[in-house]
Amino acid sequence: MLYNSTENKNEVVSASQAIAQGISKDGGLFVPQSLPEYDTDVLQSLLKLDYKGIAKKVFTDFLSDFTAEEIDDCVEKAYTAEKFGGSNPAPLVFKSYNGNETNILELWHGPTCAFKDMALQILPHLLTKSLKKTADGKDAVILVATSGDTGKAALEGFKDVEHTKIIVFYPELGVSPMQKRQMNTQEGANVKVCAIEGNFDDAQTGVKRIFTTPEISSKLAENNMMFSSANSINWGRLLPQIVYYIASYCEMVNAGKIKLGDKINVVVPTGNFGNILASYYACCMGLPINKFICASNSNNVLTDFISTGVYDKNRKFYATISPSMDILVSSNLERLLYKLSGNSDTTTREWMTALKTDGKYEVTAEVKDAVSSVFYGGYCDDVKTKETIAKMYKEENYLCDTHTAVAIAVYDQYISETGDKTPTVIASTASPYKFSKSVLSAVNDGSELPDSEFDMVDMLNSLTGVEVPAPLASLKDKEVRFSDVVKVNEMPDYVLKALGVN
Ligand SMILES: *Cc1c(COP(=O)(O)O)cnc(C)c1O
Repeated sequence: MLYNSTENKNEVVSASQAIAQGISKDGGLFVPQSLPEYDTDVLQSLLKLDYKGIAKKVFTDFLSDFTAEEIDDCVEKAYTAEKFGGSNPAPLVFKSYNGNETNILELWHGPTCAFKDMALQILPHLLTKSLKKTADGKDAVILVATSGDTGKAALEGFKDVEHTKIIVFYPELGVSPMQKRQMNTQEGANVKVCAIEGNFDDAQTGVKRIFTTPEISSKLAENNMMFSSANSINWGRLLPQIVYYIASYCEMVNAGKIKLGDKINVVVPTGNFGNILASYYACCMGLPINKFICASNSNNVLTDFISTGVYDKNRKFYATISPSMDILVSSNLERLLYKLSGNSDTTTREWMTALKTDGKYEVTAEVKDAVSSVFYGGYCDDVKTKETIAKMYKEENYLCDTHTAVAIAVYDQYISETGDKTPTVIASTASPYKFSKSVLSAVNDGSELPDSEFDMVDMLNSLTGVEVPAPLASLKDKEVRFSDVVKVNEMPDYVLKALGVN
């Protein structure tokens, strides 16, 4: 299977090149030129497999220049019971909610307690193997712009991985205290963490610019290094996310919740559009999905796009209590637009150029209809998010984090608008303890909150009895290693200095 750039069809690469490069030279994203077909027979055969087995099948079908041994090695190293607290890294919690068969897909049992571990525990293994095949001995420099969770998950995935270095930028005021502490205490000889004065989009734009500045790239090349990306634009990030939608479908069939071939809905709390796009690809492969419910917080650029066909990032930016979704440029949407425009690289490039120059583009009527026929977009603000956390806890005895609450609130809206009874999977993307302050203030009786994040964790734990994940509990005693803050225009210098090539 080969991959090409969404902005230049003639830029054709192998799977390992797509993963090693991260982003295409023209600024486009790599997409598979075809998709494997998972008909009922294939899905039937997957029912017998565990998570790792399904992962190996999916990876084999997409990574055609990897050997079976390599894929085996990657999957076995990534999804260990030790790292994910059990043999199923993505367990489903069955609920009958709203009178519907509703299943919460808990994607946060990995080492950093957020769903990004699902991809970032395997990406370093895919990447080091890809580099061996393509980069003749060059070291990979991973640059990450993070709204909080990616940074920590990438650091944890790449720490001390041979032939890699990782530098993470996060918005100084845009991450939770727990997220900040997770990153600033990161261990590993090959890691750097730096805050920037700006929001996530500034960080992401800064990183993209560094990637595409030829002078910086040649400086790296002289020193036997090359840039790669662990952001959700890397195909190696997206692919592992396809697996859990297929696995959760199989789990629902095996549990007798649905019959093989029945359709489900998926509800995804969305920021960069990676997670929900993975479910869309799963559907294009043959997984029976009826609706993709795209949940946003007050940064509701996607909600508007789905209903109007106009993507307009010229709007107020809100720092919300679901910070991993505080995003106005959802990078992975480019892949959906490419597909829905009939794989048109020229059209995709036009829209992406308009986004860069005017902050805005409007898709054609056909593409708009194609989007709104399968995607439902909705959003909820911080007040509603907290109400939803409280309601879920009190009525359903389920403690969820702020991002998951956004998804549930938007699902509620969808049900009241449509009455749709389709069995549903709601992606739960973080442990409630990662956002203890907001979760605690939603479920406590109004009494005063303690000052320190760790005291809030303890209070939430004694109030609810829900177990604190071990990786968060142990943060308290870790040494802070990083405290740099730079301006956006200082990011290139910071990178060159960190690599010792300035
Ligand atoms: C990253 C993240 C999201 C958004 O996922 P995308 O793939 O960027 O849409 C949602 N919730 C949490 C907790 C996250 O870390």
